[in-house]
Amino acid sequence: MLGFTLSEEQSAIQKLALEFTQKEIKPVAIKFENDAEGKLAEAIFRKAAEVGILGLPISKEYGGGDASNVECSIVLEELAAGCGGIATAIGASWFGQTPIMLAATPEQRQRWLPPLTRDGNLCCMAMTEPAGGSDIENPHMHSKTIRTIARTDGDDYMVNGTKIWPSNSTNSHLYTVVATINPELGDEGSCILVIPRGTPGLSFGKPIKKMGMDADSNSEIFLDNVRVSKDSLLGKVGDGARLLQRTLIYNRTGAGAIATGIARGAFELALKYAKERITAGKPLIEHEIICTMFADMSTEIEAARLLYLRAAWFNAQRGLANMAWSTMAKVYASDVAMRVTTDAVQVMGSYGYSREVGVEKYMRDAKIMQIYIGANELTRQVIGEAL
Ligand SMILES: Cc1cc2nc3c(=O)[nH]c(=O)nc-3n(C[C@H](O)[C@H](O)[C@H](O)COP(=O)(O)OP(=O)(O)OC[C@H]3O[C@@H](n4cnc5c(N)ncnc54)[C@H](O)[C@@H]3O)c2cc1C
Repeated sequence: MLGFTLSEEQSAIQKLALEFTQKEIKPVAIKFENDAEGKLAEAIFRKAAEVGILGLPISKEYGGGDASNVECSIVLEELAAGCGGIATAIGASWFGQTPIMLAATPEQRQRWLPPLTRDGNLCCMAMTEPAGGSDIENPHMHSKTIRTIARTDGDDYMVNGTKIWPSNSTNSHLYTVVATINPELGDEGSCILVIPRGTPGLSFGKPIKKMGMDADSNSEIFLDNVRVSKDSLLGKVGDGARLLQRTLIYNRTGAGAIATGIARGAFELALKYAKERITAGKPLIEHEIICTMFADMSTEIEAARLLYLRAAWFNAQRGLANMAWSTMAKVYASDVAMRVTTDAVQVMGSYGYSREVGVEKYMRDAKIMQIYIGANELTRQVIGEAL
């Protein structure tokens, strides 16, 4: 039975993330767009590692926090209430780690996981390609659109292809690369390889300027005759598609939590404003039409949180991870984030529209939540099919 309170340990982790967000993230949240080299974000990732946030999902054996999908999702909500870009970068690092935690051998885990708990080292889930992102996530396409090819060359794989958009593209320690040995084989040819930064042939384009999520670095990733040994492969050839779909279950729940946090961050700023701002002789919040907006915003945020927590709770039970629930959490929370952040800007008037106040940043960050880790049109189809 799912209780409606967090355990003592979960509350302590939530408090840690809340305090980290207030101290380290909120004071600089609107500065990331002018931080072209990503130094501000890098300092935050280092501090996140020091306090144990970055390595949270990794088991204690490898230096991590051994947290379940519930604790990780709660932390993502807190981080996103301060800055969606930081939450996205950390959540995406966990996205890249998930296939390792699901399918790596003990020797591979020992090689790849401990560095991801320290020094602000991030992981990158390199899935999307220039010719399409949704199709690679779409199980009906059976991996036939993947154009990153891993060709056998003696005891090695020679990997060639281009990725675009992955979070932490330019600044990761490790790249979890979705590939195929031959697209015509469909899912049977799909595979996931783990490639460390610094491997010859692995290079990056310039960070792409975006509408929001500035703390997250996104660019092209070029794989040009990247030679890796066969023990860079997770599982075996043919496991890639199944592993990607399992990974998406956990990380769509995380996206639901990030979207909830973005909505909450904007809501909290707008509520404070509405209590202080006087119009027509009384605080804004006392105008019935405004009060109703806040009632709806608050209800939707609570509902989004319950959806992601339920999905996360099932994900944390062995054998019960559920794609439909996780996807519902992502779809619903991302739509809530877009509606709530838009309304938050509306009730704050021109202050809401100002780049200096910080509420419009939540609105810009919210938009991609309806697109990444499965555009909401595709993900609604996933939910519909599960019915
Ligand atoms: C900030 C940010 C972070 C990201 N992080 C990562 C990451 O960590 N790793 C990674 O690999 N990628 C990442 N991405 C890429 C992102 O996941 C993809 O851009 C996304 O999956 C959509 O792919 P696309 O842009 O190729 O759009 P397309 O696949 O071309 O889709 C365009 C639009 O078409 C519609 N559509 C697509 N398919 C269908 C369908 N089957 N039915 C109906 N409508 C459909 C949707 O409206 C969709 O928005 C990130 C992108 C950004 C901007």
